[in-house]
Amino acid sequence: MLDNWVVMPTCLPLVLRRCHACASDRFRTGGKFRVNAHHKRIDVWLLALCTACGDTTKLTVLERTNVRSVQPELLDRLHDNDPALASELLQDPVVRRRNRIALDWDNAWRLDTGGPDHLDGDVIDVSVRFAARIPVRPVRLIAEGCGLSRAEVERLLTEGKLVSAVRPGAKVSSDFTFMLKR
Ligand SMILES: [Zn+2]
Repeated sequence: MLDNWVVMPTCLPLVLRRCHACASDRFRTGGKFRVNAHHKRIDVWLLALCTACGDTTKLTVLERTNVRSVQPELLDRLHDNDPALASELLQDPVVRRRNRIALDWDNAWRLDTGGPDHLDGDVIDVSVRFAARIPVRPVRLIAEGCGLSRAEVERLLTEGKLVSAVRPGAKVSSDFTFMLKR
């Protein structure tokens, strides 16, 4: 039987950017937006606070955009400071490139295995789904989900008892499957 695991975000990731006021390079956003409308153009930023000194940084979401080209639903979500919208934007590679930021997902996700029942069989067949594009090493997920140490997972891999299409030691952020024989 195929087990389904899900890598779930538990909060917004930290934003990696050098702070101009102190030596920190991590910002936390609560999903607060600033919207500036001028004539028919709008600018939108996602605000984030330095985790060390609280200084504010602005991440560009829309720049001098014709307001009529913006979906009303998007405007509503911006005005509501929708954290789910902030999550979507941070996961958008275009937004990250434009703002020259990377994300720190440490302590911002959990692995949902649906309970320990899957550990009973001799063969474990698992499909891992990512609810957000969170970069994690499969070896870490497999160790956590199966209650093994990473060294034990590495040993099962060497012995050919762990089979996966992805390289377990390299970070992935999209769905994969693996099979583990005891
Ligand atoms: Zn700072």
